[in-house]
Amino acid sequence: MSQSFKKVHAITGMKDVLPETSAHWESLEEIVRQWLAAYGYRNMRAPVLEHTRLFTRGIGEVTDIVEKEMYSFTDALNDEHLTLCPEFTAGLVRATIEHNLLYDRPQRVYSMGPVFRHEKPQRGRYRQFHQIDVEALGFAGPDIDAELIIMLARLWKTLGLQHVRLELNSLGQPAERAAHREALVRHLEANIDVLDDEARRRMHTNPLRVLDTKNPAMQAMANAAPSLFDFLGDESRAHFDGVCQRLADAGISYTLNPRLVRGLDYYNSTVFEWVTDQLGAQGTVCGGGRYDGLIELLGGKGAPAVGFAIGMERLLDLWGQCQPQPPAPECQVYMIHQSDAAQRMCATLAEQLRDAGLSVIVHAGSSGFKSQFKRADSSGAQVAVIVGEDELRNGVVSIKWLRAELATEGAQQESVPVGRLVDALKQKV
Ligand code: ATP
Ligand code: MG
Repeated sequence: MSQSFKKVHAITGMKDVLPETSAHWESLEEIVRQWLAAYGYRNMRAPVLEHTRLFTRGIGEVTDIVEKEMYSFTDALNDEHLTLCPEFTAGLVRATIEHNLLYDRPQRVYSMGPVFRHEKPQRGRYRQFHQIDVEALGFAGPDIDAELIIMLARLWKTLGLQHVRLELNSLGQPAERAAHREALVRHLEANIDVLDDEARRRMHTNPLRVLDTKNPAMQAMANAAPSLFDFLGDESRAHFDGVCQRLADAGISYTLNPRLVRGLDYYNSTVFEWVTDQLGAQGTVCGGGRYDGLIELLGGKGAPAVGFAIGMERLLDLWGQCQPQPPAPECQVYMIHQSDAAQRMCATLAEQLRDAGLSVIVHAGSSGFKSQFKRADSSGAQVAVIVGEDELRNGVVSIKWLRAELATEGAQQESVPVGRLVDALKQKV
């Protein structure tokens, strides 16, 4: 007896990428790989599951991610607390320490792929989303902070993006943050009436995060708060100036945003975001900064580091707006046939065409010429190759160019000997 099966849907906030749009993903990934190679970054891949304590320790207990966004569960088989990666940095740093990658030199690495956060789904905010994550591990100077920002500017230019602007801040060093923190807590205590519940809860555990609030009623209070920037000592200022000078050398403009604190605990010194007005409420395309304390915090030998993460869904959305993407063709050559024998001949010829580097679809099954031509057209192929009874008998194939600019003047269809097919197609495709 068959039981009725309740249809399964994708998990809320997790999106399928269908063939029509995955071509855009793949072209973006290709551009990104070339861009990263141009700066000497190498790919690194850590597992998508890690021990939960990596994130509670690395990202910080009192952060949005750890407090409410992680997909965590207990692996019942061995009673381990595990979490689907909500970001890449902690995992890459864990792997760097575990494999002792920094023992003789610094490392430029990147990862690209899905991360998971249990947030309220909306445009630009999903529960599985994708990041391009870039980390420069073991580098201390402002030169590398600037290099990362300059390379991002190059990516925007390559993609033809307009209206992405840079916001910059410095979070200084732990002692400077401590002095600022005291002043900030005093300010928050004095304004306790306007603080919402979350802010009241965080004002003693993570007061800096209170300033990151999106609550309109708290904006005036946040604007008037003591600025961490004013607490920076000479060394922190010099580092920050070093970054700014190099950005000026590269002709990159920025806004100093003293309210920019980033959502994770591990940042210090330079922090930055690239933001746009073109994406509605979720306008941050990329965020990053320095995290000189994280490697040691996670059990490694202390080493400075800096990195950033780009949200790929937001980047694709913006890219699509600036440079509308034509639909990607399924193949270059579509082969049409009339009989079983002709279909087998097409299959053999198709292998020869693929040897020559062409992408080919042989119409599957048997249907009338008319419907096969329709499929050929909608496949986006440049050319249809036709094998009918006549062609089979005479050892020729017919070629029909499907795009006007490739067709020879006046000729609808040309006939070529089977042995010349590869050459005839390679000339134009
Ligand atoms: P936000 O303030 O938007 O929540 P965040 O500070 O949590 O961002 P990061 O942890 O810095 O984000 O992640 C880097 C980038 O990943 C963001 O700048 C954004 O482009 C993208 N991103 C973050 N969360 C999501 C999400 N839920 N869905 C899609 N993209 C996201
Ligand atoms: Mg967030």
